[in-house]
Amino acid sequence: MDEKIETRKILERAKEGEEISSQEAISLLRSRNLESLLDLKNTADLLRRRQAGDTVSFVINRNINFTNICEQHCNFCAFRRDSGEEGSFFLESEEILSKARSALSKGATEICMQGGLNPKAKLGGKSLNYYLNLVSTIKDHYPQLHLHAFSPQEIEFIAREDGITYGDVLMELKEAGLDSLPGTAAEVLSERVRKIICPEKINSQIWLEIIASAHSLGLHTTSTMLCGHIETVQEQVEHLEHIRTLQKRAINQKYPARITEFILLPFVGQNAPSMLRKRVGRDQPCLEDTMILTAVARIYLGNVIPNQQPSWVKLGFNGALVALEWGCNDLGGTLMEEHITSMAGAIGGGSLEVEQLQMGIASTGRSYRQRTTLYDDALSSPG
Ligand code: SF4
Repeated sequence: MDEKIETRKILERAKEGEEISSQEAISLLRSRNLESLLDLKNTADLLRRRQAGDTVSFVINRNINFTNICEQHCNFCAFRRDSGEEGSFFLESEEILSKARSALSKGATEICMQGGLNPKAKLGGKSLNYYLNLVSTIKDHYPQLHLHAFSPQEIEFIAREDGITYGDVLMELKEAGLDSLPGTAAEVLSERVRKIICPEKINSQIWLEIIASAHSLGLHTTSTMLCGHIETVQEQVEHLEHIRTLQKRAINQKYPARITEFILLPFVGQNAPSMLRKRVGRDQPCLEDTMILTAVARIYLGNVIPNQQPSWVKLGFNGALVALEWGCNDLGGTLMEEHITSMAGAIGGGSLEVEQLQMGIASTGRSYRQRTTLYDDALSSPG
């Protein structure tokens, strides 16, 4: 069938609210005809309006990376260091507390906390004790801050170090005050890709199992995809299918928590280890490819995950504003500091002021609102 006719047929069905198949998503990702691309963009924008409204949301949050010492060697990672290596860090509780205090003074409602897999991160010989202490360091002092922390990879690391189950780790962290989990470390949920870019990481099934377990225990999560490196369009869609199935499972099983948003994280290779950098052959994300995938993700996931966010750190702020026309309804957070992608050579910087977010959104002709981590209206105001 002619590409334009096929694309139009798929998009017409999507506009009627129907779910598109994996094969149809692959066809959309392959379309490069200008008319088809415009149709794709307009459909994603229409569905975004219908599923999430016209107002663009953002959260006042602060990133805290408590250590960059990591036992793994992911081939895209410019953040990790060995213990004792120049540039390595491992924050003390007082430093973490001081960052949380300063975030609160700037109106933050959320702390997003992640770190490397540091075998020395133990208290009384237990990894879980160290992480529980991290949680209580923040929550005992500032219970009003939503603590969004620890990827499924970190959960697996704690469980492996202490010889306990993922469920035990999640339950204990939740009881200590953990509020939700970032759905990072997903990279691309395809074993071929993972073997090349992150061979030491948990496999797709374990990532999915830990996220499902979090949902069943009442911990909301986000979902992400690291795109624009060696993955094929089929593997991109395989990833989207895993995410859609996971959310449907949470809905069908009536789990108390869900995936709150989908975030596309385009690969930044400037300071990445040379093997992957050479293989990708590009240091910054390709905006066109990222926008096409953004639109397809809106169409593929929007019926069950209405919130979609671009990464201004990776795309640059202007690139993120463009993504608001391709299916995104949220602009993420102020972050206040960012190390992981900035160390990879990203152009977007590591911090945005609330006014910058508001003015950027207003420049697109849309209204804005400050939200909580879970997309309720936020009550805090900066200052
Ligand atoms: S991506 Fe995470 S797990 Fe992989 S090397 Fe970097 S810090 Fe470690």
